Amino acid sequence: RYKKKWAVNRPHRTPSQLALDHFDMFYQPVFGQKWPSIRIALLTSQKYCALVNNFAESETVLKLQQLGAVNMADLARKRAGNISKSSKKTKLKEKGSSLKDEMSGAQTDQFNEHSLENQNWHKNDNLANDGGSREHAENENKGKLDDEHFATNRKETERDLLSGDSDLFTFVPAETVYSEPELLQQEEIKQSTFTPNDVPIDVIPDKIVVPTNLQVFVYPKGEIKDFPTPQSDKAGLLGYYLMDAASILPVIALNLEPGDSVLDLCAAPGGKSLTILQTLLTEQILCNDQSYSRLQRLRDILKWYVPSAVQTDLQICRRNGTNYTDPSFSKVLVDVPCSTDRHVVTADDNNLFKPGRFSERLQLPNLQSKLLLAGIRSCKPEDSIVYSTCTLSPAQNDGVIQATMEHIWKETGVSLAVQDLSPLRLIFRDIFNFVDCRYGQLVIPSLMSNFGPMYICKIKKMN
Ligand code: SAM
Repeated sequence: RYKKKWAVNRPHRTPSQLALDHFDMFYQPVFGQKWPSIRIALLTSQKYCALVNNFAESETVLKLQQLGAVNMADLARKRAGNISKSSKKTKLKEKGSSLKDEMSGAQTDQFNEHSLENQNWHKNDNLANDGGSREHAENENKGKLDDEHFATNRKETERDLLSGDSDLFTFVPAETVYSEPELLQQEEIKQSTFTPNDVPIDVIPDKIVVPTNLQVFVYPKGEIKDFPTPQSDKAGLLGYYLMDAASILPVIALNLEPGDSVLDLCAAPGGKSLTILQTLLTEQILCNDQSYSRLQRLRDILKWYVPSAVQTDLQICRRNGTNYTDPSFSKVLVDVPCSTDRHVVTADDNNLFKPGRFSERLQLPNLQSKLLLAGIRSCKPEDSIVYSTCTLSPAQNDGVIQATMEHIWKETGVSLAVQDLSPLRLIFRDIFNFVDCRYGQLVIPSLMSNFGPMYICKIKKMN
């Protein structure tokens, strides 16, 4: 009797389908009831913002206003003015104490972490709704449902975690080869989850100032119009740059000040470097990236948006970012390569979920941690580093922050603190949906506000 081979019978899964399967398995337990909404948003065209080019001579702002777009930077500046100092202190205290409580349960397991994530959402929802009682009741109910859901998943999660090494994050050499299927599975679980530990990480307040010259236009929530192609002025410079609006946030978190020297460690294709230039605040920017072709795209962007006289403040370098060591920058942006969640579920080209790229994908948290370490080394004492990704993965977000800070705490005399980015969440809450993570803020996509994902965490180098 002829028996078809399993490999022939097996339905073919494309890389984007594999990515979605993976996210359903690992994100559903983390995001609970929010996951279906995030999932559909990831699969739908994202929204863009128009970053106004201050170097172009045109009536861009007026044109964007006539299109019905609103300046989200202006909205945030107004909101920032309205937030009183006292309320900021209260929020910070709340966050500090909840963090301490979380720390006291040193052996917090994955299950508890999920519950904490839920509590944070309730906190956010309540903030956004000014504590309305109906919403509060709904949130309480949501919490119960999520808890039930987690209880059913708990056994499975515990079994998975037990099968792996309990020490979640290790500095695995890049050349590690994963060959055995079981090993692969264990690594997959280790690299896709995050378990908080008891490393004493200080959280200190931060003040967010949206640079006066930054002008960023978006269409109001729920509107899905596209911006027309930008026009060039007499000098050939384009009027605005289209990008994911959430990409503005890591730059704002840098809190740039006049005279700052900035290292953009993974800069290409250059959206955030251009945003930094548009603040008109920095004295020097070093744009580094390892990829030749992506740096070429950065050069093109500079050619289309920045006059050559301004380009002299900017240096382009092609180095492995992990090799940076010189502490000579006042602000460092570490916008790391990540699993690019939106891309991998919608396109099969250059997809990290291709079976041949398994090892590369599993190595991401290691690479991210090494890049963050280099960013921290390159920052002057008393100055700050912003770490960002465009993934929802807790392992690539809070997990990398925790592992890197733990490494520095154990191995060096350098003292670090996480800077609380709650003010960023508060001033942009009309535009983005945030999740208040353990160390950073995460923008989650939804159909009404289809920006992100974008995780942002800020670290201060104390000495
Ligand atoms: N910041 C960019 C922007 O706003 O347009 C996006 C950066 S993208 C998320 C990550 C970048 O990291 C990629 O361009 C990739 O080439 C670069 N990269 C990957 N590994 C690197 C390494 N070891 N050193 C420096 N750059 C690296």
